[in-house]
Amino acid sequence: MKSIRNKVKDGAPPLLGVDLGGTKILACVVDEHGKILSRCKKKTKPEKSSQEVISRIALCSRSAVAEAGLEWEAIGALGIGAPGALNPHTGVINLAPNLNWKHLPLKDILEKELKIPVFINNDVNMGVLGEHRIGAGKGMRNVMGIFIGTGIGGGLVINGNIYEGSSFMAGEIGHIPMVENGPPCGCGKKGCFEAVAGRLAIVREIQSEIAKGGKSSLQTMISGGLGSVKSKHLAQAWKEKDPLVMEQIEKAAHYIGLGVSIAITILNPDAIILGGGVIEALDAHFIKKIAESAREHTIAPLFKATKIRRALLGDDAIVIGSALYAREHLEKT
Ligand SMILES: [Zn+2]
Repeated sequence: MKSIRNKVKDGAPPLLGVDLGGTKILACVVDEHGKILSRCKKKTKPEKSSQEVISRIALCSRSAVAEAGLEWEAIGALGIGAPGALNPHTGVINLAPNLNWKHLPLKDILEKELKIPVFINNDVNMGVLGEHRIGAGKGMRNVMGIFIGTGIGGGLVINGNIYEGSSFMAGEIGHIPMVENGPPCGCGKKGCFEAVAGRLAIVREIQSEIAKGGKSSLQTMISGGLGSVKSKHLAQAWKEKDPLVMEQIEKAAHYIGLGVSIAITILNPDAIILGGGVIEALDAHFIKKIAESAREHTIAPLFKATKIRRALLGDDAIVIGSALYAREHLEKT
């Protein structure tokens, strides 16, 4: 470890950032400034075994290093953004339902396998950190990231650092109660923010309107199941001003505005950063609708003090955040 610490002092070594998702692994070599030097993508295949997934992370990491034209020994540390409930201090994944993992000491296993220091945090936190360090929140002190995709995730950077909360679950804005006795949520509760404003929720509402006799360009596609309608399809129908789709997307924008308002009121942050598949696919008019709803529901001086920004790093936010997190923690050790 000593030699690695010296490498940091001598001139920052490149880092590995890994975005571990339920369907894909993205590993990138990232320089000290957050610039991606190479990338490798592989399927996660969580249905096999945890050892198989770990081997795939290792393989993907080694491929990215080779792709960058570097020796493995040149890498300073690896940061990994993982899904589910985890303890960033012990590096144990307590529960990751989409990987079928329980109490898995991921940090220890990877350090043994890869022989470099490994730092773990929640994937959404890593994404927000990436946006804070070199993206939409650069130079700010306090930001909250809200990511609207299949569901809704959130993370906080307070005074420049990830705010983890007392049991590492801070920022789970997707599960704040938004509608009393509302639609069921994947978490088992009813009417959560993501159950009324995530992509699946928007598509479910469109489907229900079609079932009542409504007409939409997404009619045929939606019969393939809720998951078959992606953000790009919603964006296309929104662009074409499909009235049924517009109504449901505007309803989601209203709820997202409420979520933004709650975040602004509790945190008084410099900015709320909006990202995720739905935000990326839809145009500025959607953000405008969200901001209008947030303004309507927030005390004026608080609203005025907060910027509402679109995320800048897209799918790379987690790998960049993970790599920079690893660098910063390596410097602290
Ligand atoms: Zn929920």
